[in-house]
Order: sequence, then structure tokens, then C-alpha cells
Amino acid sequence: MKVMLVILDGMGDRPSGALRGGTPLEAANTPNMDYLAENGINGIMDPIAPGIRAGSDTAHLSLLGYNPYEVYTGRGPFEAAGENIELKPGDIAFRCNFSTVDETMNVIDRRAGRIRESTHKLAEVLNGMEIEGTRIIFKESVEHRAVLVLRGEGLSPRITDADPHRLGPINEVRALEKGAEKTAHIVNTFVRKSYEVLKKHPVNIERRKKGLPPANIVLPRGAGMVPHLKSIGEKYGITAGAIAGVSIVKGVCRLVGMEILEVEGAKGSAESDFAAKVRAGIKYLDSGDMVLINIKAPDLFGHDGDPAGKRAIIEKIDEAMKPLKEILDDAIVAITADHSTPCNVMDHSGDPVPLLIAGSGVRTDSVSDFGERSAPKGGLCRVRGNDLLNILLQLAGLSEKFGA
Ligand code: ZN
Ligand code: ZN
Repeated sequence: MKVMLVILDGMGDRPSGALRGGTPLEAANTPNMDYLAENGINGIMDPIAPGIRAGSDTAHLSLLGYNPYEVYTGRGPFEAAGENIELKPGDIAFRCNFSTVDETMNVIDRRAGRIRESTHKLAEVLNGMEIEGTRIIFKESVEHRAVLVLRGEGLSPRITDADPHRLGPINEVRALEKGAEKTAHIVNTFVRKSYEVLKKHPVNIERRKKGLPPANIVLPRGAGMVPHLKSIGEKYGITAGAIAGVSIVKGVCRLVGMEILEVEGAKGSAESDFAAKVRAGIKYLDSGDMVLINIKAPDLFGHDGDPAGKRAIIEKIDEAMKPLKEILDDAIVAITADHSTPCNVMDHSGDPVPLLIAGSGVRTDSVSDFGERSAPKGGLCRVRGNDLLNILLQLAGLSEKFGA
């Protein structure tokens, strides 16, 4: 059998007064997910460990069977991988903003007026530079965002951010441990060079003429080292694909060796074509063993603190889950979240997430609806995210026996 893993990003939540004491998932009308819960086995899951507030990147690593405490040093590499930059183990990667500074290096706009046009022209002049034997790989991303990769000897991710995360003077990057001084120095040099080159770039001369803030500096943050990873294929002996709208999740899946499936209409937002993602996932299983589908929208409503919006988007997502009821003879279907993003917290919390697993041969339980407080009454009780893939592959008959 095959494995279909659907991750509803940040879906887990807490009871809300605005929803008469229900969570958005509990309050939502979700006949399709309820059917899968009723015909499957249910529980709650700690994406990393009980009480740990997981990021989407660290949580996805954990759900895919990796130990984020071993392989994760910062989000930079996963952002870069999500932007299709070819990475090598040992590369140091950062996410960056194009920002606006004045002549005294004071940040006056962290996002350079949310610049949309021509950032590829700005990136071109920075990409390919060398600083003291370290190669600079630089690529624009959406709007004011970009990624920076340092490739060379003796580099470390243990440095501070150049981005001050507020208006005011830019940060001088510092080493956080011995041996990271060289990397800090290279990043500081890169930031200064970016200012020298970008301040006189035609794109910025044009922006000034129009009264727009020039994108005259690049401010890196979130340094991380590209880890040495055993691919998911080597680790589990499976072929796996992933469908995700947001680049950080794509990046995680790409770095663990999953095939990234581009689906038209997958936007990583509430306007995403959820049904198209599910259709593409089912189609991939014709040849692949496992597919992961990430749907970002619930997380966005959690961050916005909008329980009614979250309930509505969960209902829309549920409609897209309908075809999953038809594949239960051929696939183990799991629906869960990568972490909770409670509307009253407006950020990720350490609350466990609901998990349902359905498919031929699965032991069922008495749970008949999908929700944070119904799920733990089911047969899975409480599991760790790091065990999820083993549980699913075993049910699908895709795992090796340990021992005689
Ligand atoms: Zn997430
Ligand atoms: Zn989030």
C-alpha cells in the first residue's frame, strides 16, 4: 500500500469563546475528515516532544523521521532549498531582506517598501562574488526577500544576524562561538559591499526618482548550516514526493530527498487550490510510495488570531479531502498538523495536534469525529512526531522487520 500524509499547517488550536468553547476544527463542519476519523484510528501527537513549540521546519523534519536537534542549525538552508538553490553539506545559508538604509547605515525601511519589481537585477550583481575565498551565492525570492549562501572552508552558522529586526542601526554580525569569526567577518563584508553596489544600481536610481525607498542593502539573518542527511529513500527504502506552497516546507522536503511536485494553484495561502493538491498527491501515488501534502492556510488564520476564519478555511479544506475516502483500499491516509497555532496565542504553541490514520487493515476505534479533544480517546493515544513515519510505513506494509 501507499502512504498519503496530509499536514494541515498549524491546525491544532485551543477552545475559543468566539466558537462557543470549541476549537476551530471542532466547530467546523468536516464530514470528510470525520468519516476518515470514524473509519480509522485516532490520537494526538507531539510534533517534536511534549511542550516543545515547533517551527514548521523543525516539525516537518521530525515528522519525516529526522532529529531536528541534530540536523537543524537555522532556517536559512531550508529557505534556500525551497528557492531551488543547489546546496552542498557544509554551506551556510541565510534568509535576507532587501532593506533601505540611510548614509549612516540606519535602517529606515526593513522591507525596502516591499519592493516587488526587478529584485532579480539587484541579485545578479551580488551573485557569484567571492569574499576571501568564500563563494557568494545570492538569489532573490518573493517581494523583498532573498537567500544568501556562503560556500567555502571553515565556515560556521554560529553568528548573529545583520538584520536588526527593527528600525535603527544595522547589526555588526558577531561570532557566537570560537571559530565563527571568519564567517561573521565575511557576512559583514558582504553587507557593506551590498550597500556599495546597490546604492548606485539603476533599479534604485529609478526608485528614488519615483519617491520609493531604494533597496540599497541586503540584511542576512537566520544562519544555518546545510546538514549531512541520509535521504528519506536511503533511510526508509521508499520513493517520496511532496506538495507544498510555502518555500520553507518545500525546502525541508527537498533537503531530505523528496521529489517536489509543482501543482498549479498551490500558493501556500487561503486562496490555494486545495483540491488540486489532493488530486496531484493521489496521482503521484500511482508510482511513488508516499506523498506529503502541506496546506498552509490554517496556520495563517492562527497567526492572525481569527478563529472564525480558521473554522471556515478548515471547512473548505475538508471538501478537498473527499477523494481520500476513495483510496483507502490502496493507501494509508493520515491527516494531522505540524504544530498548533492557537488563535488566542497568535503563534505556535506546544499543544499536541490531532492525528487520524485510515486505510485498509487499520485498527479502528470509537472516535467518530476529527478534533483535538475527541482524537486522544482513540487507539493511538499520544504519539511522537518522530515515530509517525514508522507507524504509517508499517501499516502500509513498507517497513523492514527489526530482528529475527
Ligand atoms: Zn507550520
Ligand atoms: Zn506559523
